[in-house]
Amino acid sequence: MSHPYPHLLAPLDLGFTTLRNRVLMGSMHTGLEETRDWNRVAEFYAARARGGVALMVTGGMAPNREGGVFPGAAGLFTPEDIANQRIVTDRVHDAGGRIAMQILHAGRYAYGKDCVAPSAIRSPISPFVPHELDEAGIGKQISDIATAAARAREAGYDGVEVMGSEGYFLNQFLVTRTNRRTDRWGGSYENRMRLPVEVTRRVRAAVGHDFIVIFRLSMIDLVPDGSSWDEVVTLAKAIEGAGASILNTGIGWHEARVPTIATSVPRAAFAWVTKKLMGQVSVPVITSNRINTPEVAEAVLAEGCADMVSMARPFLADAEFVAKARAGRAATIAPCIACNQACLDHTFSGKLSSCLVNPRACHETELRIEPAAARKRFAVVGAGPAGLAAALTLEARGHGVVLFERAPQIGGQLNMARKVPGKEEFDGLVAWFGTMLAESRVEQRLGVEVVPGDLAGFDAVIVATGVRPRDPGIPGQDGANVLSYVDVLARGAEVGRRAVIVGAGGIGFDVAVYLSEAGESATLHPAEWRREWGVADPAAVRGGLADARPEAPARQVTLLQRKAEKPGRRLGKTTGWIHRAVLQARGVTMLGGVNYERIGPEGLHVSFGEGRENPTLIAAESVILCAGQESERGLADALIAQGMTVHVIGGADVAAELDAKRAIDQATRLAARL
Ligand code: NAP
Ligand code: SF4
Repeated sequence: MSHPYPHLLAPLDLGFTTLRNRVLMGSMHTGLEETRDWNRVAEFYAARARGGVALMVTGGMAPNREGGVFPGAAGLFTPEDIANQRIVTDRVHDAGGRIAMQILHAGRYAYGKDCVAPSAIRSPISPFVPHELDEAGIGKQISDIATAAARAREAGYDGVEVMGSEGYFLNQFLVTRTNRRTDRWGGSYENRMRLPVEVTRRVRAAVGHDFIVIFRLSMIDLVPDGSSWDEVVTLAKAIEGAGASILNTGIGWHEARVPTIATSVPRAAFAWVTKKLMGQVSVPVITSNRINTPEVAEAVLAEGCADMVSMARPFLADAEFVAKARAGRAATIAPCIACNQACLDHTFSGKLSSCLVNPRACHETELRIEPAAARKRFAVVGAGPAGLAAALTLEARGHGVVLFERAPQIGGQLNMARKVPGKEEFDGLVAWFGTMLAESRVEQRLGVEVVPGDLAGFDAVIVATGVRPRDPGIPGQDGANVLSYVDVLARGAEVGRRAVIVGAGGIGFDVAVYLSEAGESATLHPAEWRREWGVADPAAVRGGLADARPEAPARQVTLLQRKAEKPGRRLGKTTGWIHRAVLQARGVTMLGGVNYERIGPEGLHVSFGEGRENPTLIAAESVILCAGQESERGLADALIAQGMTVHVIGGADVAAELDAKRAIDQATRLAARL
């Protein structure tokens, strides 16, 4: 059968076995293993196996206690652990899939005082100084990793991935930044690479020849004193010689100052790095990072950047990514927008992962979308993320749904997010909702301002009318120089050369990025993005890290909040630092502990602290109000007063700290049980 992705869907012959296509589901720490609900873990992977992916890699499993990312991290330590993993691998095989277990030794990134490393040098992102290993200690780590590989085989896995990148244990041996040893494990590059090579050799010896061994190799460290390109190639050849079947790409250490997977990183931004290795080794090479559609993946392979593509988060967003691509239905693949909000941000807060666009991810056994016992007729009012998710889920269960929206288009607040440079992925999310609606039997009534009388014949009404901007009540705020974020983002209002933003929440930051952006978004121009962040060719500079050369800002922007804390502290755990770094690079002044005294044509008058000290004029042509939101509940209250059955969701329910993740999750869960 011909299909639009000839490279992506071509099988890959590994000699002793053949993978059905070129798609790897990359390793993700979801927190599922730690639930010890093995049925749930198995179902997560089996759903992706049914969805057609060739090979999956599990989240990192610790080879021993000292190497676990955090205390109690999952690993194959007991016969019971192996039996539990069997439940997972059997289910994957029954579903026609393949699965490899990642062995992750965190080295100095391990969150605990027993962590070990080549040298006793603390990472800037860890509070713990690692213990320097002696010769016997190094021998133990190698044996433990090889034992973990043998146990993975016993547990029914098809392979292992040895985590050698991202600044973890093996990577720490490779560079002088973390390896100051003078014995045979440090000093010359030959010595520094001895550990990863020896690990690979021992792993291969432990598992036999007919077992997949992937080595994830850091091809661009993005930290000072990282590997040179010659060293990367030398290592790749040595790892191949030691018995690896596949080389996977690692990009950047966790402590790097360059974002590598966030939504503002251009798509396939690092495929060129993997391409440099093509032809240098004869085993297949996998590329990774910010590849999220079959089109991008196909292009990367067609351009010869790699033999195979790794995508991780896209498989949270849609388990059926490959099957839909194969069926020529790529437009129906729920897109990963690389927001990290429900996956990595959860991981780093100790919560189970899920996905903003797919709340069923990692909740497959608990959040089920099943045919409704009795068909009902629902009105859904509001086509923002909450209303859209509710309408589609209700329809999928067989209910009749009419979706009303005041605006002429769907998307609600998503339409503002997509205007922000670096958030272009939101375009794809709105487009996907549009496709899914068009394919469904949901009746759409766009551009319709609903009144209670319109809703009389329905069994129930889902009110997803969203939010309206909060009125901060600042004297002078009705002046001609005062705008709301809606004026700026949705209506494209003119803004002067100096702008002051009231409110430093997610939207205040977005508006600051929007107003300070001088040209086109660097997310759409990879070369410019690399210049702005200081990403260089690792063949020219060690670790691929050069000086950052940010664009001059379009405006002088000041971002304010009343709370006396660092602005942006409450943004996403894994992305807040990126937003702050962007604004800092553009010279945006960020101030907390501010009182808003009054606005005049000359700008915003503020004072500081509880004593209203230090009165200051922040001179500006434009003042933009981004002071949060309040629920739009007028319709809900009117319907409830009339005795109708009403369910209020999304921002109309709770406006505080609303985001699309909560809106979609709440809507899907409600619609799954009505
Ligand atoms: P927000 O996060 O609640 O922030 C509102 C800002 O306004 C805060 O800085 C707050 O700080 C200030 N504020 C609150 N009441 C005020 C008042 N009466 N007068 C003056 N200032 C006031 O709301 P948002 O920025 O509008 O964002 C809405 C939601 O969208 C957020 O919760 C966010 O999760 C989501 N969002 C997320 C992202 C993202 O990147 N994940 C991006 C955009 C939006 P002080 O009270 O300290 O002044
Ligand atoms: Fe992608 Fe965001 Fe979903 Fe994570 S939460 S998988 S980044 S869409």
